[in-house]
Amino acid sequence: MVKIFWFRKDLRIFDNRALEHFIEDTKPGEKFLLLYIKNRNSFKYFGEMRVSFLYESLKEMVILLKEKGYNFNIIKGDSPIVFKELQSKYGNISVYANRQTEPYSIERDKAIMDFLSTKGSSLKLYSDTTLFEPDEITKDDGNPYSVFTPFSRKCLNLISENHYKSSNCKIEKLSPEDNISSEIFKYEDLKKSPLFCGGRTEGLRLLKEFYKNGLDKYKSQRDFPSVKGTSFLSAHLHFGTVSIRECYRAALKKQKEIKNDEEVKVWMNELLWREFYYHITHHFPYVINSSFKKQYDKLEWNYDEKSFKKWCEGKTGYPIVDAGMRQLNEEGWMHNRVRMITAMFLTKDLFIDWRWGEKYFAEKLIDLDFASNNGGWQWSASTGCDAQPYFRIFNPYLQSQRFDAKGTYIRKYVKELKNVPDKCIHKPDDMNKEQQVNCGVVIGKDYPFPIVEHKSVKENVLNKFKSITK
Ligand SMILES: Cc1cc2nc3c(=O)[nH]c(=O)nc-3n(C[C@H](O)[C@H](O)[C@H](O)COP(=O)(O)OP(=O)(O)OC[C@H]3O[C@@H](n4cnc5c(N)ncnc54)[C@H](O)[C@@H]3O)c2cc1C
Repeated sequence: MVKIFWFRKDLRIFDNRALEHFIEDTKPGEKFLLLYIKNRNSFKYFGEMRVSFLYESLKEMVILLKEKGYNFNIIKGDSPIVFKELQSKYGNISVYANRQTEPYSIERDKAIMDFLSTKGSSLKLYSDTTLFEPDEITKDDGNPYSVFTPFSRKCLNLISENHYKSSNCKIEKLSPEDNISSEIFKYEDLKKSPLFCGGRTEGLRLLKEFYKNGLDKYKSQRDFPSVKGTSFLSAHLHFGTVSIRECYRAALKKQKEIKNDEEVKVWMNELLWREFYYHITHHFPYVINSSFKKQYDKLEWNYDEKSFKKWCEGKTGYPIVDAGMRQLNEEGWMHNRVRMITAMFLTKDLFIDWRWGEKYFAEKLIDLDFASNNGGWQWSASTGCDAQPYFRIFNPYLQSQRFDAKGTYIRKYVKELKNVPDKCIHKPDDMNKEQQVNCGVVIGKDYPFPIVEHKSVKENVLNKFKSITK
C-alpha cells in the first residue's frame, strides 16, 4: 500500500485538514508520495498570470519540502489517468485530499473514487476550503439558504472554535526515507502579475500587513479602488497558500484588540459571502451554466461580439469601466467595487449574457474561484440568488463620482485621460474641443465616445426584465 497526499486548492503544509489525517495515518515504513497534478482540463481557461501565481506557489512548496528532506511530485496529466497509472505502478494506493465542491470537481473525484474502490484502493476527502462543511448550514427545515443575511446569521450562531482552530500538521512525523519521488516538473516562464506573487510567504506577508494596517479600517476603505483598503488575499485563499481559518482567527484576534469592531465585522462578512457562494454552488449545481432564477434563462441577451470586445479591451468610453477592464488585463485582478460596476455595465448597459463576462473574468483573474465568480456575475446580472434587483441598475457615472471622486484610479489605468480635469474625468466626452486639446485627448480619436448612452438603454433593459418577471 502506498499512501498519496494530493495537494489541490491547499498549497501549504500548515493548517491543512486532510494533511493532518494523512500524517496521522501514515505509519513508519509505509511508502508515501506528495503529489500535485497539473490537470489539462482545469487549465483550459486559466490565464498566464494565474498559472504563474500557481507555479510560484508550487515552487515554494518544492523548496520547503526539499529542505525538510521530502520530494514534492508535480505531474502533468489528467487526474483520472494519473491515478490509473499510479495504481498500476504501486498496486493499492490510499489517496488523501481536501474536498472541492465545484460541480466538475465532484464529478471528477467521484470517477476517481469509483475506479480506485474497484481496485481495493481509496480516495478520502476532508473539508478544508471553507469554515463550514458543505452541508452544515441549512434552514431549520433542512433546506439550503438562498438569501445571504439569514445564511450569515446562522453561520455566526453556529461557529465554534472547531471551525477555525488550526489543524495540527507535523509533517516531520513522516520519514523522508519512505518518501517516493517521481518525475521532475518543468516550469514554463510565464507573464507575472505586477500586483501579485504566489506562495505562502507572500500570502502571510499580506495577511500580516492587512492585520496591521487595514483590518480596522476595512469598512471605511474597502469601496475605494484607488485606496489599498482590502486584503488582496483572494488568490491566496483560492490556492490555499493561506487558510480560511487563519483569516478568521486574525479577524477574531483583531476584534479583541480594538474597541469598535464594526470595521472587522464587515471583513468577516465578506469571508461569509465566500462561504455563501460555495453553499449555493454545492446545493444548486445547475448555476454552472444556468441562471439561479431559472426564469431569467428566457432573457434574449444581446450577443454582440463587437461591443463585447470593446468591453474586454477597456474601450467603452466609460472611464471607470475601462479602468477596471484594463486593470484586469494588466494585473489579473480587479477591485471588488469595479468588478460590480464592469459586470453590471456588461449585463445591463450592453445587455450581454453574464456567461460571456464570467468566462472572460475566468480567463484573466488570478483569484478565479468558480463559486465567487459565478455568484458575483449572477448578482450583477440580477439572475442570481439574493442578487441586485433588476430595476436597480448602477449608473456608471455616479458610481465613478462616488467611489473614485478625483479619478485617481481612472488615471492610473486609462493613461490617455491623465490630464483631464477632475470635474470631467468621469465623462470626458462632455469636454468641448478646446478643453480636449488643452488636456491632450481628443474624444473619438484618443479615447472613444461612450459605446451606448446609459440613460436610453436603461429603459429598454428594464422592459426586457419586466416582461419575464413574475
Ligand atoms: C463579477 C464578480 C466576480 C468575482 N469573481 C471572484 C473570483 O473569481 N474569485 C474571488 O475570490 N472573488 C471574486 N469576486 C468577489 C470579490 O470581488 C473578490 O473576492 C475581492 O475583490 C478580492 O479582493 P480581496 O482579497 O482584497 O478581498 P477582501 O475585501 O479583503 O475580502 C476578503 C476575502 O473575502 C472573500 N470575498 C470578498 N468579497 C467577496 C464577494 N463579494 N464574494 C465572495 N467572496 C468574497 C474573498 O475570498 C476575499 O479574498 C467577484 C465579484 C464580482 C462582483
